[in-house]
Amino acid sequence: MDMAATDSLRLIDAAAAGQRLDSTAAALLVHAPLASLMHTAEELTLAGFGSTVSYSRKVFIPLTQLCRDVCHYCTFAKAPRRLAQPYLSPDEVLAIARAGQAHGCKEALFTLGDKPELRYAVARRALAQHDAVTTLEYLERMAVLVFRESGLLPHLNPGVMNREELARLRPVAASMGLMLESGAERLAMRGGPHFGSPDKQPTQRLATLRAAGELSIPVTTGLLIGIGETRRERLESLLGLRALHEEFGHLGNHHPEFPRQAGDSHGLRRRSRRSRSSSGLSRSHDCCLVLGCRSRHRRIFSPMRWYRCGPPESTTGAAGHP
Ligand code: SF4
Repeated sequence: MDMAATDSLRLIDAAAAGQRLDSTAAALLVHAPLASLMHTAEELTLAGFGSTVSYSRKVFIPLTQLCRDVCHYCTFAKAPRRLAQPYLSPDEVLAIARAGQAHGCKEALFTLGDKPELRYAVARRALAQHDAVTTLEYLERMAVLVFRESGLLPHLNPGVMNREELARLRPVAASMGLMLESGAERLAMRGGPHFGSPDKQPTQRLATLRAAGELSIPVTTGLLIGIGETRRERLESLLGLRALHEEFGHLGNHHPEFPRQAGDSHGLRRRSRRSRSSSGLSRSHDCCLVLGCRSRHRRIFSPMRWYRCGPPESTTGAAGHP
């Protein structure tokens, strides 16, 4: 075993003994043997939460699949010509919510692209027909409608927002969601999967997460695995989330997601034939690694809540948005 791996084992023991790892130490976990990492992660998780697995039934409402961004792996966003209509109507939104209600759902999870009206005239025209100027304005109205008519709790995923936009949606949302995806700036540069997607700039997303913290908005967040990031970048991303969570305590469900298999009805386009990340390891191995580092949450995320690992959320016929 090389020195880096030996050091990382020492760090795992320290975390198991209750020490909080600072950012420098936590970054060394990239060298940790997976088996040791997972073993300690499981011990810490069981000690903190037992073996209970909880979940919340939710129905997805894909308000619009138009998006101003062009993430290279995305299969959620569609060009206007590939959609029957730019936005769901209020009646369609309510029909989905009521179907979810009939199936025992408690939450209405609104999925949508980022500010499509900034890119598409058809989006602006459709919004005008709904007596709205922005997608956020229409979303706000639909969240109120769903809560009033079905009692489902709105969970909103409209992407990057400034403080004023967050504050406006806060009264109509039980919670919101914004994946960090990755804190690696280079993935937004030419040749990267986020090139051409202004809302995928890590600084923008971290600023939104920070503003949500300042406004005490509970937010689900996480990383996207296998879009070209390195292990170190994943850990740095987790540490960025940790810093925010330690300051505001508003982040929950820090989950890794990975590109879906081609042929799925929703989610993300498979990045390569074998869907391997830049670390060269399989998706399951990489997810275990991230879960292991993250599950050492007494030190990485203290005190943490719950985790989910898997492809983007889905629902029958509707698309999950990362
Ligand atoms: S992943 Fe999200 S932000 Fe990126 S293109 Fe798809 S819908 Fe838009």
